Amino acid sequence: MNTYLALDFGGTKLLVGELTDKGQILSLKEYKTGYVNQLQAIEIITGAIDDYKATMGWATGKKPATMGVGLIGRVDNDNGIWCQIDSDRKLPISLAAMLSEKYGMPCFIDNDVKSASKGEKWIGKGAGVNNFIYLNVGTGIAASFVVNGQVVRGGHNNSGEVGHTSVGVNTGIKCGCGRTDCVELITAGIGFDKQARMNKDRFSTRLIISEEKPVDVREIYTLSKKGDELCLHLVEQASTALANLIMNLVRVSDPELVVLGGGIVSDPYFFQKVQDKLNPTTVRFVTRGIMLTDLDPRYAGLIGAGAVAQNRF
Ligand SMILES: [Zn+2]
Repeated sequence: MNTYLALDFGGTKLLVGELTDKGQILSLKEYKTGYVNQLQAIEIITGAIDDYKATMGWATGKKPATMGVGLIGRVDNDNGIWCQIDSDRKLPISLAAMLSEKYGMPCFIDNDVKSASKGEKWIGKGAGVNNFIYLNVGTGIAASFVVNGQVVRGGHNNSGEVGHTSVGVNTGIKCGCGRTDCVELITAGIGFDKQARMNKDRFSTRLIISEEKPVDVREIYTLSKKGDELCLHLVEQASTALANLIMNLVRVSDPELVVLGGGIVSDPYFFQKVQDKLNPTTVRFVTRGIMLTDLDPRYAGLIGAGAVAQNRF
């Protein structure tokens, strides 16, 4: 049996684990990341692999066949280059070759959302589906379009940044990308936070809005269910924006399926609000449905990295 070494590098933590060829997680260990640049990230990654090998050992006693790494930022999957984390920190690094040489196994890397869509294609809702959209709604919003069985990459591996599109919900909020009313400033974690602050004097609310930390979106959902004016407004606005985004995207790539993942959308109350706003005629060709991922959110990134390791999705 082949196993795969998978690394899920996110904004707060790095998961290192080994998976079977069926996607079963044999063992895993968690490491802290935080807000780092690429060079610091590489130190964290190699330090974590070294520690994992030393403290866990290979799960089957045999070295994994290949390694896959899911990364934040822009990634050139074909050439194994980590292009950049964000626009301020641009430092293309041949990460796959570096890790492959250091650990003596083939290494493949990809962006985290594209990795997640590969995980869906491997053992998730996307298995056997050649045309689907994976839409991640977490702190921000991004999508991976699987078209004719292939992940759409674009000229700069920057496809799928759909969080920076306007969807007919007008709040006047300016985005760092240069546009106004980008959907992730309305619907995602950062959107709920910004919209709560913008609207706190327009509506009565029991929501705690402090300078020290972002608003708690779970609390917004809970208060909205109880009729809190501000929270109801935020949920209504965000679910309208997300439904509009989904309907726009469906018109772009004609998918059979839309899979949603990420902490903000994976709440039954909020997801139902979104579904209620989808026009059945607009989404009539999405024959396999618009649904939440059934991969465990704690390990979806690791499973995605395991799919990346196989370099066949
Ligand atoms: Zn934007």
